[in-house]
Amino acid sequence: MLNYNTHNQHLSVPDSSIKIAIKREDLIHPFISGNKYRKLKFNIEDAKTTNVKTLLTFGGAFSNHIAAVAYAGKEYGFNTIGVIRGEELREKKDLNPTLTFAKSCGMQFEFVSREVYRIKTNDDFINSLRNEFGDFYLIPEGGTNELAVKGCEEILEADDFKFDYICCAVGTGGTISGLINSSKKHQKILGFPALKGDFLQEDIRKFANQDNWKLISDYHFGGYGKIKPELISFINTFKNDYNIPLDPIYTGKMLFGIFDLIALGYFSTGSKILVIHTGGLQGIAGVNDMLKRKNRPLIEI
Ligand SMILES: *Cc1c(COP(=O)(O)O)cnc(C)c1O
Repeated sequence: MLNYNTHNQHLSVPDSSIKIAIKREDLIHPFISGNKYRKLKFNIEDAKTTNVKTLLTFGGAFSNHIAAVAYAGKEYGFNTIGVIRGEELREKKDLNPTLTFAKSCGMQFEFVSREVYRIKTNDDFINSLRNEFGDFYLIPEGGTNELAVKGCEEILEADDFKFDYICCAVGTGGTISGLINSSKKHQKILGFPALKGDFLQEDIRKFANQDNWKLISDYHFGGYGKIKPELISFINTFKNDYNIPLDPIYTGKMLFGIFDLIALGYFSTGSKILVIHTGGLQGIAGVNDMLKRKNRPLIEI
């Protein structure tokens, strides 16, 4: 079951003039972890007020969001349908660990080509899904909508307003929007995008109601899901030093960035930094399978 008892863990860094703590949202649950739980909470409550018995959402084959929706559906009594990018997966006998988990929760898959995936929000495509599966409650890709942002506004607690900086990884921008909305004016929210793309600024502005934030776009390592050996080695060293696992898609890149910025003197003396660990650890097994096939060093778990 869900563990709401997350806490801030102090990290000692070489530059002792900087105080840094990490909010362990990854401990909420192994599969419905971190921000994906926050983003689903009010969507599930809303879905319960309708007569609809099915949740439908979209994602890639390793998606933390797909795993979270599958588990939430099982937990709260909804059928779930995952529209998955990559029609070649339909023929594969062995599903990857994320899809194996989602299937074990009862999720049904609709595998679509990359072309169809790109137009997945078009009315025609949604209507064809309704014809096939009946009525459903639609949760967007990555789970980001107004209700998701509302859920992410619950991440910060009263004790967290003493921090000067709050750092989080950014995918669709829902999580950072919630953090911005619930932060105090004196705080600065730094987002570390896990992908390339200028559209994020716009997307965040749609949901955020303050302007005390900034995106730091230098640490996406070439784009979404792109993994370099120096990132793997950082994640393994971090685990070894602090006994905290990081995922290679989001939180690993963010912490690599934060440590680099500290080394570059970005944060002034005495800065207090809160890092949000948004979870995503379920994705490590799938990434390790891929690294193993390429004969590259693995993420230690
Ligand atoms: C999805 C995800 C993010 C990105 O959250 P957005 O709200 O889409 O910006 C960050 N970290 C982890 C671990 C995630 O799974």
